[in-house]
Amino acid sequence: MNKIGVFTSGGDSPGMNACVRAVVRTAHKHDVEVIGIKEGYRGMVAGYFETLTSLDVAGIIQRGGTILRSSRCPEFKTKEGRQQAYDNCKKHGIDALVAIGGNGTFTGALYFEEEFGIPTIGCPGTIDNDLFGTDYTIGFDTACNTVVKAIDQIRETAASHNRLFLVEVMGRDSGFIALNGCVAGGGEAVMLPEQRDDLPRLMQFLDEKSQHKIYSNIVVVAEGDEAGGAIELEKVIRKEYPQYDVRSTILGHLQRGGSPTCRDRILASRLGHHAVEALLKGERNMMAGEINNKVELTSFRDSIEKTKALNSDLLQLSEILVA
Ligand code: ATP
Repeated sequence: MNKIGVFTSGGDSPGMNACVRAVVRTAHKHDVEVIGIKEGYRGMVAGYFETLTSLDVAGIIQRGGTILRSSRCPEFKTKEGRQQAYDNCKKHGIDALVAIGGNGTFTGALYFEEEFGIPTIGCPGTIDNDLFGTDYTIGFDTACNTVVKAIDQIRETAASHNRLFLVEVMGRDSGFIALNGCVAGGGEAVMLPEQRDDLPRLMQFLDEKSQHKIYSNIVVVAEGDEAGGAIELEKVIRKEYPQYDVRSTILGHLQRGGSPTCRDRILASRLGHHAVEALLKGERNMMAGEINNKVELTSFRDSIEKTKALNSDLLQLSEILVA
């Protein structure tokens, strides 16, 4: 193996740079050249290829976002787009790929590998933590820390005005950020896509609190919750519970930014390193993840298709620790 291509794709996440750095430096230890493919699949289709030296990845471990930039690329979902991407990879002599991204990125990698046979290993780079085959994804810890900091600040104003705050967090169809953010931020309730009965439970909770005249509460709402996010939920609460002075805060993209935490930097470094080692050992079509503090490979298919369940202990804790 002489040349590896590396790219970041889908939503950016803090720690992607640390992962790119680990890929480049591990490959160089084995005298393998690394090509950075800019803007994910868009750059693969358009031909944005650039050699990465060890110096190019110096001073990036602490930076959020991705120096390779990222994109969502509809062309890659077509056979013609993937053919174009393959032609570009061949033109640049790429023997193997490291894909850093989420679910969609690995779906694309799976098709690409099946059609054209370029060995690919994935690293889970998404704040959502929604990939099977790894306890944590790169960027999740940083995003949770951002959420907790925001909740801490919102709590001060919520308490001062005796207000009910709905804090909407990212996570797409999964509630990992919401649940972890709620427990660590001391939220009073959490709305999760994984729970079907959370609206009636929230109603019951608000009934009980208002009987005791406790109106200052923080409810963490996952963006993918069935109730429809914080704005929709606010409308319901305003109608059903006029005694509450309710406000919504949507944390949005600030959850994606920021310098990666120590935990994310180490996870990203371990997984980036392992991805290259795995390719050199002849592995393909796998995602490198961390399970019980050990790096493990899981097939792309499993990582995409199998569902990672929320931690049930944490779920219980979120209910037990509420006053
Ligand atoms: P995140 O979880 O942060 O959103 P992601 O990798 O899931 O990251 P997506 O936008 O879903 O982000 O996917 C990234 C890219 O992967 C898409 O823009 C597209 O180019 C490619 N991709 C996604 N699904 C497919 C598919 N079914 N076939 C081919 N390519 C795909």
